[in-house]
Amino acid sequence: MRKPNRRDFILKAFVGGVAAVCAGCLLLKGSRMKYLPDLAASIPEAFFSGSPFSDPSFSDYPSSELIRESDKTEKSQGREAMYYTRLERNRVRCDLCHRSCIIAQGRRGFCRNRENRQGKLYNVVYGRPSAVHTDPVEKEPQHHMLPGSEMLSIGTAGCNFRCLHCHNWHLSQHSIEEIGRYHSYTPHEAVNYAIELDVAIISSTYNEPTVFFEYVLDIARIAKKEGLRILWHSNGYIQPLPLKELLQYTDAVTIDLKGFSRKAYDNSSAEPGPVLKTLQIIKEAGVWLEIVNLVIPTINDSSREIEDMCVWIRDNLSPEVPLHFSRFFPNYKLTHISATPIDTLERALKTAHKVGLQYVTLGNVPGHEYNSTFCPQCSKILIRRVHFTVVENNISDGRCSSCGHSIPGIWS
Ligand code: SF4
Repeated sequence: MRKPNRRDFILKAFVGGVAAVCAGCLLLKGSRMKYLPDLAASIPEAFFSGSPFSDPSFSDYPSSELIRESDKTEKSQGREAMYYTRLERNRVRCDLCHRSCIIAQGRRGFCRNRENRQGKLYNVVYGRPSAVHTDPVEKEPQHHMLPGSEMLSIGTAGCNFRCLHCHNWHLSQHSIEEIGRYHSYTPHEAVNYAIELDVAIISSTYNEPTVFFEYVLDIARIAKKEGLRILWHSNGYIQPLPLKELLQYTDAVTIDLKGFSRKAYDNSSAEPGPVLKTLQIIKEAGVWLEIVNLVIPTINDSSREIEDMCVWIRDNLSPEVPLHFSRFFPNYKLTHISATPIDTLERALKTAHKVGLQYVTLGNVPGHEYNSTFCPQCSKILIRRVHFTVVENNISDGRCSSCGHSIPGIWS
């Protein structure tokens, strides 16, 4: 088992840290949109239909059109996928995420990670993470989970979104062969490595964990037996069945909510409805949930959209779900838009407070007062942070040490 070394550090620096898990938009060639029949009335119907990506004209493209077939060596790698349906003529339908790709023999799905070999679907990145590193849990971000703890972060290749602004596009928008480097860690080896490093948490992050689902799940099953905590950072486009299975072995989830409009999700080649449904399922499962909203000027920064999103979170999840407004910086294919003005973020924060959300912070603004978490009861600082560093923790036995107010989260 090879340990991360200087090359790994360089790779990590290359991919640009955690930030938001991949997302972005390109043409959604060849994927098929499917939405939940049990659509919750609380999710706007427009968030499930009428997207240009649902237009049948987009389904003329083979899903793996842009993906070269891997060579024979690569074909011997991977693990059979858990959620798929065999179809006629050796085709398969992947049932893991809401793209529901139909994949022909020898081709891969939209995420570049799932390959049809003789009518069986394989996850080709299983046991082959392209990024392995330790990070503070605050970087995920998770503000109510073991503050100041280190986690072992694991990412692979590929993504089921095409966010134009993706900060980790070097990983997320390439296949494992295109990245050209990876570690070999079985799930047992990954867990042993976390134990060796003496970290409290294993996080599946950097790229979308859904697209390496079987690896995430196997690591989680083993890690739970060893007393480690399991976290993952996702765009929330996973189907309900695999989601519920993974939640059984999960302590906390960070979900990127790209906005509260079709426009915001067009920027990520997706639909908002399934993501909102995922948020509800996580909350109902009793798994600790935090939400990140990357505020991008002209894409999702209108006062109305931010207020609607905050109201939906309050009414359908809980006012106690932490919401992180994160600052956008030009990146990948969204370089013509300037960084988010600080006052836009402060306005968003004020709106969230006005709506009644209790734990709202600002990210990607190192040193801002609202890197820190405040008690909703007495307004004293609960956790003082400077960027990702915890400098003061005033939570004792899950309560504010000033007024005794109970603070939800994972504290021990
Ligand atoms: S996980 Fe990948 S192959 Fe499966 S439906 Fe989603 S994008 Fe398609």
